[in-house]
Amino acid sequence: MEIIRTVSWMKEAARQARAENHIIGLVPTMGALHEGHLSILRRAKAECSRVFASIFVNPTQFGPNEDLSKYPRTFERDAAKLEEAGVHALFAPEPKEMYPAGFTTYVNVEGLGERQEGRSRPGHFRGVATVVLKLFEIVQPHFAFFGRKDAQQARILRRMAQDLNLDVELKICPIVREADGLALSSRNAFLNAAERRAATVLHSALQAACRELAADVHDALTLQSTVREVLAKEALARVDYVDVVDADSFEPVARIGARPAYILLAVFIGKTRLIDNVLIESSPDSGDLIWSL
Ligand code: AMP
Repeated sequence: MEIIRTVSWMKEAARQARAENHIIGLVPTMGALHEGHLSILRRAKAECSRVFASIFVNPTQFGPNEDLSKYPRTFERDAAKLEEAGVHALFAPEPKEMYPAGFTTYVNVEGLGERQEGRSRPGHFRGVATVVLKLFEIVQPHFAFFGRKDAQQARILRRMAQDLNLDVELKICPIVREADGLALSSRNAFLNAAERRAATVLHSALQAACRELAADVHDALTLQSTVREVLAKEALARVDYVDVVDADSFEPVARIGARPAYILLAVFIGKTRLIDNVLIESSPDSGDLIWSL
């Protein structure tokens, strides 16, 4: 597997793959790779003939009080995992390669980028959209693969691709969880043993909401208070938000109806902020609600 450090070299490798008529897939990551990332890579490998992964801890998506310098960095291990997964090349630029002196152009996805994660982390989605647009321009993939764990991010990037007429199709992959339900995340590494046990409360709270859905409770306020009650029982958990939203607009909904919806959570466990969600859709066959944790 080739490790590529510069934009010009990455562009050249991607150009060559296009000239050879390959179907190109891109999997952007910030490294500290886990099974969630690897499941996305497997999907990309199954659907594309050339898979490029990127590892870039993007400084512009971290707020001034966030964990940029502490973000886990495990480059050697990551590269070995990518090689084993059959990735053709790894793009791993330094920040000054992506943001040279004088850099001033940013992408803002309005509305969608201002709610939930956007409200709690001002500037976060501006940084994400900017770096992902740059990656799309550098690699020009046919397909780009993201995880549903960051559901709002995926929606925003799809909006950006549509609004800016980008020739890339986004593929959103399911959430990969630990055996006890905790969604895999690079940030789980920050949890101590007691916090790690407490962190399962996000999944338990979403499961409680799913039990309500199974009992035909569709009212958003009722579902939200069920989720909040479960979270409140965990002393180490502090809720940032619990929202029931339309899966397209991320606007709050009063009731879960025929349109796809999410229940979105952001919860601090100690100092570590974790997010999770459940996607609720109506079955195309029966019209009954189905949910994916
Ligand atoms: P990150 O390295 O955290 O920026 O994540 C890179 C990609 O992996 C993003 O598209 C995430 O949504 C996705 N991802 C992270 N954790 C998971 C998970 N537990 N399951 C599925 N996808 C994930």
